[in-house]
Amino acid sequence: MNTQLNSNVINLDSSAAKRMASTVKELPLITLTHEELRQLLSNQLQSSLDIQVIMDTFFQISQRMIAYDSLTYNHAGHNIIVALGLSQKHSVTYQLNYQGEYLGDIIFSRAESFSEHELGDFESIITSLVFPLRNGLLYAAALNSALKDPLTGVGNRISMQQTLQRDIDTAQRHKQALSVLMIDIDYFKSINDRYGHSAGDLVLVKIAQHIEKQLRITDALFRYGGEEFLAVLPNTCKEHAIVAAERLLESLKNLQINHAAQDIDVTASIGCAALTAEDTITSLLQRSDIALYAAKRNGRNQVQSAP
Ligand code: GH3
Ligand code: MG
Ligand code: MG
Repeated sequence: MNTQLNSNVINLDSSAAKRMASTVKELPLITLTHEELRQLLSNQLQSSLDIQVIMDTFFQISQRMIAYDSLTYNHAGHNIIVALGLSQKHSVTYQLNYQGEYLGDIIFSRAESFSEHELGDFESIITSLVFPLRNGLLYAAALNSALKDPLTGVGNRISMQQTLQRDIDTAQRHKQALSVLMIDIDYFKSINDRYGHSAGDLVLVKIAQHIEKQLRITDALFRYGGEEFLAVLPNTCKEHAIVAAERLLESLKNLQINHAAQDIDVTASIGCAALTAEDTITSLLQRSDIALYAAKRNGRNQVQSAP
């Protein structure tokens, strides 16, 4: 079932809204009337921009209004899935749209089928999701673009710093391995000179996509600089990281990059470094950089590792 949502969001009088906002966690919601729950829902949904929190709030409060067991929200374009509760046999799906803008799909389920009356209730209460979801999606998109390299779509330096710090902290706390690969395209300047800057851009995009495909799902790739990428490999010792790096270089031989009817061959050099108990981000990256330059000095298209 699809439902077109429009702008009929309930407005609360602000003092009632504040009172409810401060009490939602403690209130025995069961004692509230349907209308009070509706107002509480509408108010609470506006207190966060985080889609997970928005859906969780909706789940908690709406279950007091309609008996159901699970809620799944997904927005493929934003790569967001929120699954709450245990999904059951009978389900109803609503596609959420606001003035032609797609806001995602929401699926409710339970063991028994839903009555017409309950479906009407669902349609009515999901209107309160429109603006919170819209704001949440805008926020998610803004956060996402602030962390991505606009050309290649991989993480940028800001997200690298955050991810690497978090992964280093985790690895050091749990005494787990972690390695990084500093990957630099060989003779990239001459690719630009020979085929043009837009061909160079295409090479960067293709290489980034190719490396991402080669990495494990738990690994992360960032654009470190112009034609340099950093791969972070959690739970990976130096020996395994070297194997992964060599496999990557081998696979580059089969990467086909075609620009203006010309095939562009690329190789890369990789500096590998494994985390030690004393390492900081700076010291780890410095060692991978030193290893990279050893790979360059040694003739390129190869992996070198830091001691
Ligand atoms: P090496 O094998 O020693 O790594 O040589 P290289 O030519 O790859 O390295 P160098 O540092 O001399 O040149 C890097 C070039 O990358 C210079 C710069 O113009 C180019 N570059 C940096 N960012 C971009 C970009 O976003 N797009 C394109 N097309 N070129 C870029
Ligand atoms: Mg470079
Ligand atoms: Mg280079």
